[in-house]
Amino acid sequence: MNKTKIDWATMSWNPVTGCRHGCPYCYARRTARRFDAGCADPAPLPGGLHVLTEKIKATPYPYGFEPTMHRYRLNQPERQEEPQTVFVCSMADLFGRWVPTSWIVEVLDACRRAPQHRYLFLTKNPARYLELDHMALLPHESNFWYGSTVANEDAEAMYTMQGVAINSFWSMEPLLGPVDMSKAEGLPQWVILGAETGNRREKVVPRREWVDQIVQFCAENEIPVFFKDNLRAHFPDLPPSTFPWDDRESKTAKWAANFMGRFERQV
Ligand code: SF4
Repeated sequence: MNKTKIDWATMSWNPVTGCRHGCPYCYARRTARRFDAGCADPAPLPGGLHVLTEKIKATPYPYGFEPTMHRYRLNQPERQEEPQTVFVCSMADLFGRWVPTSWIVEVLDACRRAPQHRYLFLTKNPARYLELDHMALLPHESNFWYGSTVANEDAEAMYTMQGVAINSFWSMEPLLGPVDMSKAEGLPQWVILGAETGNRREKVVPRREWVDQIVQFCAENEIPVFFKDNLRAHFPDLPPSTFPWDDRESKTAKWAANFMGRFERQV
């Protein structure tokens, strides 16, 4: 596990790396390819999957951004005694279609063995959460938080996450369009709002009205909101961020409502 610059977690942990979603703005792919040593796997699994039982010292990404299980990292949460908020698989989509269920179970079991931490998962394929839940493989522990990326109204999470008694959140980063949360079939308990970073030509700059619509909905429904610094760079007057697990939760709606009131008075 490593300390992270990601502002809504204290550490990141990558027992699985690599992803096949192909998002054009992917920072993880750029990083993995930078450190890709072009290693040949003597025993790749079917489907182009890789398993490492020992660390390869030369690089953390010997197979680039191809899906890789780093089994030697599975005991890292146990060895970290001080409680952390851990972003699990910041360099992968652990719940992508291509990931074997056995890998996911190994990672979830490793989390269970270290209950002192809070675990944040994130996927673009939330249907996998439901599949695992139907197989009784998805832990419902209070320190497990299941996130889904919601960049615009096309996101699967708007229409699939309902009826499962788990902690859930939406990562609306990068926000690529308006999102009317009232259309969702199941609401999250937390929202992370952020803007696209990097320098790609088609980079999307979020509009103020997209942000305000989401903030207002969250205020009305008492959903805490975390504002990433990359969004504050566009809109410095955003209210303070709130987390669902701290005692500031009750203030969330007030902060957001005050903010909206201020905004409405200005227009
Ligand atoms: S889901 Fe995440 S890790 Fe996968 S390609 Fe998209 S941005 Fe990259």
